[in-house]
Amino acid sequence: MSDVNSIQSKMHRAGHYPLRVAQYLRLRERIPPLYGMLSVNAGILAYTHRTLAPGFLTLTIPAILIASCLIRMLVWLRPIGQQDLEEDAAQARMHKAIWLSLAFAMAFTIWSLSLDRYGGPYEHGHVAVFVSVTVLGCVFCLTFLPTAALLICLTSLGMFLAYCVTTGSATLTAIAINIALVSAVILKILRDTYDSFVELEVAQRELRIERRQAQALGDENARLAQTDALTGLPNRRYFFAALENLLETAEDQVFCVGLIDLDRFKPVNDTYGHAQGDRLLQVIGTRLVAQCDPSVIIARLGGDEFGFIVPGGPDEAEAIAQKFCSAIRMPARLGEVTVAVGGSAGIAIYPESARNAHSLYDRADFALYHAKNHRRGQSVRFSDQLETLIRSEQALDAAMQCADLARELSVAFQPIIATESNQPVSFECLARWTSPVLGVIAPEMMIASAERVGRARDVTATLFDRALDALALLPHPISVSFNLSGHDISDAETISTLLERIDKSGCDARRLLFEITETTLIAEVDKARSVLERLRATGARIALDDFGTGYSSLSSLHQLPLDMVKIDRSFAPRLDETVGRRLISAIRNLARALSLECVIEGIETEDQLLSARIAGFSLAQGFHFARPMTLEEMLGRVEASSKSWHFA
Ligand code: C2E
Ligand code: CA
Ligand code: CA
Repeated sequence: MSDVNSIQSKMHRAGHYPLRVAQYLRLRERIPPLYGMLSVNAGILAYTHRTLAPGFLTLTIPAILIASCLIRMLVWLRPIGQQDLEEDAAQARMHKAIWLSLAFAMAFTIWSLSLDRYGGPYEHGHVAVFVSVTVLGCVFCLTFLPTAALLICLTSLGMFLAYCVTTGSATLTAIAINIALVSAVILKILRDTYDSFVELEVAQRELRIERRQAQALGDENARLAQTDALTGLPNRRYFFAALENLLETAEDQVFCVGLIDLDRFKPVNDTYGHAQGDRLLQVIGTRLVAQCDPSVIIARLGGDEFGFIVPGGPDEAEAIAQKFCSAIRMPARLGEVTVAVGGSAGIAIYPESARNAHSLYDRADFALYHAKNHRRGQSVRFSDQLETLIRSEQALDAAMQCADLARELSVAFQPIIATESNQPVSFECLARWTSPVLGVIAPEMMIASAERVGRARDVTATLFDRALDALALLPHPISVSFNLSGHDISDAETISTLLERIDKSGCDARRLLFEITETTLIAEVDKARSVLERLRATGARIALDDFGTGYSSLSSLHQLPLDMVKIDRSFAPRLDETVGRRLISAIRNLARALSLECVIEGIETEDQLLSARIAGFSLAQGFHFARPMTLEEMLGRVEASSKSWHFA
């Protein structure tokens, strides 16, 4: 019913429907009164002749005619349905109306003229009035169906005129001519009205079409303003508008905001040019869209940063983020070249992490920052602990950024001892940072911070200078070992700096040992091998540090140019048990088979030292011998030990 109401309420809106439908709708309003008028007029005419004419003319025929009128009236009065608004249906109905009007005109005229044979001058007058007034009434009602109006005029008035002429009455003929003339004028006026109606409808329709086109154009402009031109994804503006929108309606409904940042995207841009970089972004945009259903909003926020909104909890968001990261990781073919980048993601949860768009974005960014630094290629969700951690990392980075490296960095030395003689064969240089703002910072944290803020090269160079200074002060053949991070190994300039410094110092490079962890080597084996070869070419030796903490076997590492293996300090306590001892011996034997020297780290007790000796270790390091010490302490102890058998 409400449909019908809405259709009816729209009925008079010019230009709303196709012309035929509009015409039909206007006609619908006029046809029922037409039939009503016809029925009443016919009833009255039958009534005035009731005693004068035979029953079939005053009762039967008018009853049939009036009943037909009422049936047609009901047909036109039924509610409008959707089918009435179709052009073909409207056209067919109007066609039918034209033929019916012709039939009714003939039937009523013949009937009324049949009655005219009965009765006196008043009754004759009544018939003339019936014909003329009813015809004019019908013509008015059929303004929107001019053909029918014309047909009725021609049929009824034509028959009436012919009838009047045959009766030979000059007055009647004159009346008929008068009526015909008036009808002609009225027909002309109605035709003009109809033409104006058609013109108005057509003009309004064109106007509506133009308006619709303008609206479509406006919508398209709005869409473009919210679309990223490169990837076709929604842009930053859309992302934040959608987020605000969601916040307005979300109340306490959980949803997640995520950010993705590509890893190693810059080298693609730098190496293959921006055009290829753009193509890669397009490929990634398409992949991201393919990972989730349309309920997830995914947008490019700028550069190599994407954002997404998941209408669900953190587990759902994390699953989607992992899918995104995996999809990004897949190598992409860009014409001739294949490139591989990674993606890390950060997720903030509404309402747990924050309640407004800006803070949600910030928290997701926080989590992303953590992912990029500690869990590359994965997703991290925001938590309060994470915020504390990142804030402390940021404080660390701020201190590192403005640190006076020469003054704040120092080196501690820890001996590597020959187990047989208890004499130091080497000293490992361990970095120490005492920040005036934050105090003493653990070396791993210091190195990570230096990498984040881009000072790793300066830090390594500063520490290496201290190591070379120490080497110059240590008696021959004691060597120093120096730790290199993954970052150092991958940075050609750091390696060149180290080589330059070795050269400049004039030291005997055979007394230098570089310690490198397994993870560093495995990440880029080929690159690592060439770097190690460059270092080794000076005469320096290479030690594999923290062995046993990674996943690779010694045999897989033996293709690398290594001289020594340092077994991670976590193994030392296992020297106290039989199984552990067996395992450690096996590692020792394998190293020997590969012609690698072997150091056991983390020896803290006399018993461990004894076990290490029995297991065949000739070199060991640990608190049992000495904790890391200053340069002065080291030199003092070396001097003292040269006079006795024991270092410790
Ligand atoms: P690492 O290379 O395995 O260095 C040995 C670490 O084990 C040192 O910690 C040392 O103090 C500790 N240690 C030595 N003997 C024992 C022991 O018997 N028991 C226990 N529990 N620990 C022992 P530190 O000085 O805190 O250094 C930690 C890590 O920081 C080093 O592990 C190394 O990976 C890194 N690091 C230190 N200095 C540098 C540096 O100059 N450059 C780079 N890239 N990394 C460095
Ligand atoms: Ca080390
Ligand atoms: Ca170690």
